[in-house]
Amino acid sequence: MTKLIRKNFELLDQNDSLAPMRDEFILQEGLIYLDGNSLGVLPKDTANRVNEVIQQQWGVDLIRSWNCHYWMQKPIELGDKVGRLVGAEAGQTLVCDTTSINIFKLAAAAVKMRPDRTKLITETGNFATDLYLLQGLAKLLGDQVQVVALPRDQVLHAIDDDTALVLLTHVHFKTGAMWDMATVTQLAQEKGALMMWDLSHSAGAMPISLDSFNADLAVGCTYKYLNGGPGSPAFVYVAKRHLAQFEQPLTGWLGHAKPFAFNDDYQGAEGIEQAMCGTPSVLANAALEVALDLMLKADMEQVRLKSQHMGKLFIQLIQQRCPWFELGSPINDEQRGSQVSLIHTQGYAIIQALIERNIVGDFRAPDNLRFGFTPLYLKYVDLWDTVDALVDIMSNEHWNQPQFLNKKAVT
Ligand SMILES: *Cc1c(COP(=O)(O)O)cnc(C)c1O
Repeated sequence: MTKLIRKNFELLDQNDSLAPMRDEFILQEGLIYLDGNSLGVLPKDTANRVNEVIQQQWGVDLIRSWNCHYWMQKPIELGDKVGRLVGAEAGQTLVCDTTSINIFKLAAAAVKMRPDRTKLITETGNFATDLYLLQGLAKLLGDQVQVVALPRDQVLHAIDDDTALVLLTHVHFKTGAMWDMATVTQLAQEKGALMMWDLSHSAGAMPISLDSFNADLAVGCTYKYLNGGPGSPAFVYVAKRHLAQFEQPLTGWLGHAKPFAFNDDYQGAEGIEQAMCGTPSVLANAALEVALDLMLKADMEQVRLKSQHMGKLFIQLIQQRCPWFELGSPINDEQRGSQVSLIHTQGYAIIQALIERNIVGDFRAPDNLRFGFTPLYLKYVDLWDTVDALVDIMSNEHWNQPQFLNKKAVT
């Protein structure tokens, strides 16, 4: 392997077809932001759009805005935009609530669609909320279902004809390891189980083909690679073929077939609208729409290529210059999402030392340093500069100072 130098990265930036997208985002001078997999950066147009919705739609048009500015249609409209990014035809994706709440809705619906089956299978070490929501559902349903959480290499073997649902996160939040969506979906379905994908770490980072992979159910965040803003509403996908049987338990009025008839009895809407519970978050939807429109301008194949290339180069740099770390992510580009994790027992302090230099990655307990690669606003040369800083921090033990060693509440 030839030794990489900074010039290699400068040249890649000069020839990067996605480079102009960086101007669409607000990034402080000198900041290297490798945490877009946790909170995506602010698009330039977001503040104006949200302000317009506040000043004109809320401030002046007030209640009329539900109709004249289509506030009520936004969950569907934005859902279809997310759908275009994850390979779903219109009418199957809705933007609402949080990923956590949506997991609960879909898992409960899945149990209803597979009433004779008792197992909800997932992976140990999955993102905690995914595990907790399945546990909460199982508790609510008494002995009817049980959560079977297994290490990654045992999950697929465990799927059997008593499995109602398999819930997996497509790209693992810590390691970036990626499941083969088409193969796993098929395997679950061959056993008669429903497959739910959590796309929190893949939507906006790579092309996804929910429809052509014959996915059943999916959820995901919009504040990570999709840049919708802190706490922006999540999405939920139910394949068209399931919509007729789909019954989710949070039967709020806006999931009703005729919400404004105010009938006493619940009757769910026929389409994906039934996934709605209560009033949509209008300001958050305004911010999200800007971000989705921006993302739709990017060619997802190019996004994936750049992200894979960045991951590969970052790993090469670490191998060439940073003997202190173990790699916590798959080395094979095809099996890795848009992040690279490094393992070190002092991971927290090392990340804090990087942040002091205006290089923002994050730490996931117990020993994971996470670096997210967001092709729309990262430069190749940022990779070089990050590793250069790491070399300095490690070789001079610069991380070993009290201000870096004390843990903050949110890591
Ligand atoms: C980020 C993330 C979530 C977050 O769920 P919220 O309800 O938005 O807090 C859920 N699942 C996975 C896999 C995630 O990465």
